[in-house]
Amino acid sequence: MLSRPPGLAVVLVGHNPASEIYVRGKIKACAELGIFSEKITPPETISTTELLAIIQDLNRRPEIDGILVQMPLPWQVDSRRVLEAVAPDKDADGFHPVNVGHLVAGRPAPRACTPAGIMEMLKYYQIPIDGRRAVVIGRSDIVGKPMAMMLLHKNATVTICHSHTSHLAEECRRADILVAAIGRAGLVTGEFIAPGAVVVDVGQNRIADPVEAARFGRSREFERKGYVLVGDVHPLDVTHAASAYTPVPGGVGPLTIAMLMANTVELAERHV
Ligand code: NAP
Repeated sequence: MLSRPPGLAVVLVGHNPASEIYVRGKIKACAELGIFSEKITPPETISTTELLAIIQDLNRRPEIDGILVQMPLPWQVDSRRVLEAVAPDKDADGFHPVNVGHLVAGRPAPRACTPAGIMEMLKYYQIPIDGRRAVVIGRSDIVGKPMAMMLLHKNATVTICHSHTSHLAEECRRADILVAAIGRAGLVTGEFIAPGAVVVDVGQNRIADPVEAARFGRSREFERKGYVLVGDVHPLDVTHAASAYTPVPGGVGPLTIAMLMANTVELAERHV
């Protein structure tokens, strides 16, 4: 039991529509769980120095346990410097190099939310990992690399694929667990998926073309909304081949927010 509510500061620079939606979801989750949240909204024109000053102030405030800087930042801001300015013990996203180092070393620390959520999901559904072959497509710092590391810690034999991988489909077909974190709508088709594989689709791709939406079997939804959100895995192919898979939307996305909340509460437990 904590003597005060955990506190999360969310820094949202400018008015990127997708970022505004993500931040709204995070603030709503805080309210539902009794986590104190503060949204800081500097203008699009902010400089690196001004943003660093905001982060330093949040680092000093005792009621703030976690700080999240919503990406992407405007072009004139040095994103790396800003992320590295967040105190490692307030790094709600688990992106700070100190916490990345802790992850690699297998020490407890805030972990990147999307892969941490995927690990929780695999545990919840009792998907065996030990000794299994896992293939992760994508090697970003926020999804692909930490995902591979977390699967490795659970004794999977891990392959990381990326845009230079030769014979991508063949590599993927060897996977018992296939994680797609690419950002290319429906790139993973039936030929990538071994019969019975578990497929985790991290991709979130907005489709605004009716012909593309039809290719994903989502014409009706497109007519209603004018766009559809699809993953990196072709939704029709995966249903035939996989033994279990995460849909888009509704699969991995909500887990990311859940793990952000978990990171914030764990940081508060350390601080109080
Ligand atoms: P990213 O930084 O753009 O990384 C994409 C990765 O995919 C890179 O490693 C890239 O390889 C690889 N790639 C690109 N094209 C490829 C191809 N044709 N074949 C094989 N690999 C290819 O993206 P990210 O931030 O990791 O995000 C990936 C996707 O997940 C996006 O759709 C994003 O919106 C989504 N996402 C969802 C959540 C969620 O909560 N659901 C959270 C984060 C991200 P190189 O390294 O060689 O360029």
